[in-house]
Amino acid sequence: MNRDQDHPDFREFSIATQAIHAGRHPDPVYGAVCMPIYQTSTFAFESCAQGAARFAGSEPGFVYTRMGNPTVAALEEAVAIMEGGHGGLATASGMAATCTLAFTFLGQGQHMIGTDAVYGPTRVVFERDFARFGVEHSFVDTSDIEKVRAAIRPNTKLLFIESPANPTLQVTDLAACAELAREHGIVMVVDNTFASPVLQRPLKLGAHIVMHSLTKFINGHTDVVGGMIVCESAELTDRVRSVLSYLGGTMDPHPAWLALRGSQTLPLRMRVAQQNAQAMAELLEAHPKVEWVRYPGLASHPQRELVKKQMDGPGALISVGMKGGHRAGVVLLESLRLPVLAVSLGGIETLVQHPASMTHAAMNPQAREAAGISDGLVRMSVGCEDQAELLADLEQALERCPD
Ligand SMILES: *Cc1c(COP(=O)(O)O)cnc(C)c1O
Repeated sequence: MNRDQDHPDFREFSIATQAIHAGRHPDPVYGAVCMPIYQTSTFAFESCAQGAARFAGSEPGFVYTRMGNPTVAALEEAVAIMEGGHGGLATASGMAATCTLAFTFLGQGQHMIGTDAVYGPTRVVFERDFARFGVEHSFVDTSDIEKVRAAIRPNTKLLFIESPANPTLQVTDLAACAELAREHGIVMVVDNTFASPVLQRPLKLGAHIVMHSLTKFINGHTDVVGGMIVCESAELTDRVRSVLSYLGGTMDPHPAWLALRGSQTLPLRMRVAQQNAQAMAELLEAHPKVEWVRYPGLASHPQRELVKKQMDGPGALISVGMKGGHRAGVVLLESLRLPVLAVSLGGIETLVQHPASMTHAAMNPQAREAAGISDGLVRMSVGCEDQAELLADLEQALERCPD
């Protein structure tokens, strides 16, 4: 019996239900509840006519995995529904998603505007690589809408926002930026990696496209590298899919299957990680050895009102600066026993790192300082461990830090 015609439209459900059911269709062969891993590069045609029809797009079905695959398609549908978008496009990494979007919307002599404190490699790709092909860029503090407005040129085609940004946790008013972008015919992309669709849905706030490093919260288990692009319309999805499938930064079925499984617990993980992060941020802020804490759930966050307006929660990332500067930061990082000293974020385990010498080391030092990424900044991606044990560990590590 094929009950797939009864498959509810999960667009109308809450994210907790979407994460579990969206994109999961009953397997027509054996009834497998979980999507099988269709580990194949190509798909057999029953006839030449069928092969021709599939290439022409007049018959649905798969052709070649770079162009589409059932396991990858299930993940694309699941994330697209969580983001409230039209179509999803899974990519080999978050950077493959960023580069595919840059290739799609920018050409020689055109201009892009980006958030100054974006993920380090995102900035490098525009400042170094796309610049070689005559693509102009302006990286500005997009949390100030007047700075975005002032950066717009007649040839601006892309506005690339990361909010909350990495690692300053600066928040940009997405609805205001989207209005400005649409006024000027600029495509607005939001890197929603830090918030995940559980806490923020940029398409609903007016963005044209959302992208993710799936490596982070959506997969959530620190065992997959992948990315995702979700567009607001069929036209945009087709346009980006065409570029993606030719450029080749597509996702393979096995990581897609892992991410499909990981994503089912995204709302649960986010809830626990966020509760832990709030408690850790409060402990840090009250500690005499800490100079400052930046966490969107603290009253001290400069855009606390905006956070409440456009996000459903403050997330699980904390940036902290020690009174003892870089030296104290190193002691803190090396004294923590539960958190792992490693880059990346959004995993089920707590990870800590030092952006100025790690994720943002490739940025030029002046730009790094200007974007608020000081040498003493320590970034924590809080996981789902027991809260009391995390707090006790943080306490003992802080005790060891020099003033
Ligand atoms: C990690 C990250 C990326 C890049 O993703 P990869 O999967 O590592 O290629 C992009 N944006 C943000 C905010 C990230 O944290």
